[in-house]
Amino acid sequence: MEKAKIAVIGAGPAGIAVGVEAKAHHISPTVLFEKSEAFCDTIQRLYRPGKRVDAVYRKMVVKPLGICQFDTESKEDFLKRMEAYIRDYELDIRYRSEVNAVQKADGVYRLRVGSDWVLEAPIVVVAIGIFGKPRKPDYPIPKEIRERVFFEAPCECPQEGRVLVVGGGDTAAETACFLCEGCEEVYLSYRRPKFFRINPVNLELLEKKAQTGKVQLMMNTDIDHLEPDPQGVKVVFKDGQEMVVDRIYYCLGGSTPAGFLRSIGVEFQDGKPVMDKYYETNLPGVFLAGDIALEKGSIMAAFNTAHIVVKRILEKYGDLIR
Ligand SMILES: Cc1cc2nc3c(=O)[nH]c(=O)nc-3n(C[C@H](O)[C@H](O)[C@H](O)COP(=O)(O)OP(=O)(O)OC[C@H]3O[C@@H](n4cnc5c(N)ncnc54)[C@H](O)[C@@H]3O)c2cc1C
Repeated sequence: MEKAKIAVIGAGPAGIAVGVEAKAHHISPTVLFEKSEAFCDTIQRLYRPGKRVDAVYRKMVVKPLGICQFDTESKEDFLKRMEAYIRDYELDIRYRSEVNAVQKADGVYRLRVGSDWVLEAPIVVVAIGIFGKPRKPDYPIPKEIRERVFFEAPCECPQEGRVLVVGGGDTAAETACFLCEGCEEVYLSYRRPKFFRINPVNLELLEKKAQTGKVQLMMNTDIDHLEPDPQGVKVVFKDGQEMVVDRIYYCLGGSTPAGFLRSIGVEFQDGKPVMDKYYETNLPGVFLAGDIALEKGSIMAAFNTAHIVVKRILEKYGDLIR
């Protein structure tokens, strides 16, 4: 079986930054596994073309600690930056390789892709993010309206119709502003009376759209359920209010892929994976990096987890990786 010093699962910002930091410290071989055809699948797939990638995301100013860092720039420039890291640090990324199991045997971890155990390494960093599984509402979505209900921000703007965006974060704000480019009526429903997570740039843009009537803000509204309607989707709110829209976009973020982590033996406490301050789990040598390691994720925070993890690997497992 192929052997590596560090196996990294996921080639998003966190996984790539782990690869970069490991390479900078000559930890070789370090092998990254990525389930999709390209690096940074979350960004490639869920960010619309031209999207601003904010260095200060969800109002969190994160001071860069390691090699990977960036200033606010477009999606395309950010992806070029990541491509340059991959090229300059000669990262070994295995694309179309979804790791579906990790097992400890003879003191090392073995990784399975498809039905084959493909690689073993003493250290594993899990950097699979949370956006493989977008968060969904508790109420069911009737099957008649499923093609009108979306759990990801749109990459293309529909050129007509009445749409409802649900959520109170940056993605909800950006989605509402973006949909104004084509849709006749855009509504944004948020269950709180005030936005508190949106960064100042997005908030200003959203407020401008609201002032000019392009986005109708529906604060303090909470959806009870959805129903099929001859005109589209009937949205019934908890206060009894109803509206009919053509499409709904839920921007509720993602959730920790607990199933995968549990299946490899990571313990959970109060719904969160058990980790020390260096993001090492209860399994010695298995670390988490990026969104799955963080309460509030962002790209810069993901980069920093990678720096902390690799520093810790050097300190604690120097004998195993040199
Ligand atoms: C619409 C949207 C807008 C955002 N805007 C911003 C912003 O402006 N600024 C900001 O800082 N943050 C933003 N974020 C958040 C940011 O994208 C995340 O914090 C960041 O991508 C986290 O990086 P990560 O590497 O932890 O996870 P991800 O970027 O999700 O990467 C995980 C990678 O692992 C791969 N993977 C998953 N499972 C497996 C497996 N089993 N085997 C192999 N590979 C696997 C995935 O394909 C993916 O490539 C935004 C998020 C969204 C959804």
